[in-house]
Amino acid sequence: MPLVSPGEWLRKAQRLGFALGAFNVENMEMAQAVVAAANALHAPVMVQTTSGTLGFAPPEVFAGLVSRLAQAAAVPVALHLDHGNGLDLARRAIAAGYTSVMIDGSTLPYEENAALTRSVVRIAGDVPVEAELGTVGGKEDAHSAEVRYTDPDQAADFARRTGISSFAVAIGTAHGFYKGEPKLDLDRLAAIRARVSVPLVLHGTSGVPEDQVRACIARGICKVNYATELRAAFTGAVREALAEKPDAIDPKHYLKAGRAAVQALVEHRIRLCGAEGRA
Ligand SMILES: [Zn+2]
Repeated sequence: MPLVSPGEWLRKAQRLGFALGAFNVENMEMAQAVVAAANALHAPVMVQTTSGTLGFAPPEVFAGLVSRLAQAAAVPVALHLDHGNGLDLARRAIAAGYTSVMIDGSTLPYEENAALTRSVVRIAGDVPVEAELGTVGGKEDAHSAEVRYTDPDQAADFARRTGISSFAVAIGTAHGFYKGEPKLDLDRLAAIRARVSVPLVLHGTSGVPEDQVRACIARGICKVNYATELRAAFTGAVREALAEKPDAIDPKHYLKAGRAAVQALVEHRIRLCGAEGRA
């Protein structure tokens, strides 16, 4: 089917207490893996690319690729701009066919973040907009920031003033791999959920223990982002395939290994999110 808007699916997830898996892809093989996993489990899914990935290949290329994969799939697939860096990229992604965008003004002062987010909501029209308040730690593309947790009252004000469709919370997760076990502020998440009505999004989920992810979904998380561990799975499998057959020259040989590793991991994450069979 054609690419879908995730808005309806996020609200359904919120109502029924599951989460959409949102998976960052870097190339065709990772996109194929995500769509194949969703198809196999009859799950709605979000494929996403960061601003950095779109510097490597532009939104028109990913939109063309993912929309063709979605057309051949029997499940709803949304294409999302993850950590959009401004109005121009949001506009270009939407024109290319992205069905959802995030604007990341989280490193800006509060009023500037709200104003930027509001301007993206305005130009996005029917396309749902995700925004972040407070900061998820670590590094997603060039965004590097100290961790500031989301304030629940400010979150309510922000959602109301900007008109966003979904809200990324900062409750102790970080991008990249964790050094120790992450300590998530679940009480804060519950407090945000009590004040904010739009679906909530968890970033930096690679390496978060499964029981913590389930606890977050039980407290209102409706979209769970996975990026780092998919990159690691892909690269690890390619590395292994090349080590086993150092004289391989056909990229299909080792890319196939990367693709299979990502599909297996995505299937696991879709089950964890409770999205299996929801399509
Ligand atoms: Zn993120």
